[in-house]
Amino acid sequence: MNIILMGPPGSGKGTQAANLAELVGASAVSSGDLFRDHQRRDTELGRLARAYMERGEYVPDGVTINMIMEWIDDPARSAGFVLDGFPRTEAQASALDEALAKRGAAIDRVIFIKVSDGELMSRLGGRVICSACQRPFNLNSSPPESEGACDDCGGALYQRDDDKAEVVANRIEVYNSQTKPVVDYYRESGMFSEVDGELSVEEVGAALRRQISPSLTG
Ligand code: ADP
Ligand code: ZN
Repeated sequence: MNIILMGPPGSGKGTQAANLAELVGASAVSSGDLFRDHQRRDTELGRLARAYMERGEYVPDGVTINMIMEWIDDPARSAGFVLDGFPRTEAQASALDEALAKRGAAIDRVIFIKVSDGELMSRLGGRVICSACQRPFNLNSSPPESEGACDDCGGALYQRDDDKAEVVANRIEVYNSQTKPVVDYYRESGMFSEVDGELSVEEVGAALRRQISPSLTG
């Protein structure tokens, strides 16, 4: 099963994508995580992406599409995939459709996690992430048990550069102008559904499971 999980920055896509992938036996990928990984390894792609990400802008389509298609083409993905953060532009969406068609594959489900702008601002402003396992915490709503350390692995927590207040507002704006049209593009298709992203992580997860297969509820 090939799934696209869409939603604004801060909608919880990352957490849900990982859970969903496990549920359907697919692998999940976050385009943002791939870019951050390139930055840590200081690759050419990482250096290119950094400038855009720091401003809350999108990385150019060409490099983003190549990066994701390389990931999809890995034989480890043959059981299916969950995409988190891709496609975010109309060009990315049509490139993905075309590339999959060439491989005799297709997207099965597109699920949109809906959250209001006000809620996003407060979530992203308080977000910190484990530098070792990438688990997110929120200093306002779900702080770690001990300050600055991950509950799961003890890794150091940090705030992403693009979660700083001035950049957050820009990311939401870029999302509204560039990615909303992609949501509308899929909305017309029979594979689209929407879940309320303002519920708890567990409730959103349950709603997603219901969308994927009625037999998986519970
Ligand atoms: P969020 O969903 O919270 O914005 P991500 O980690 O998914 O966070 O993305 C962080 C940044 O990485 C984006 O603001 C953008 O600069 C870049 N990025 C991620 N995915 C894409 C994409 N599909 N196209 C272009 N840029 C992307
Ligand atoms: Zn951790």
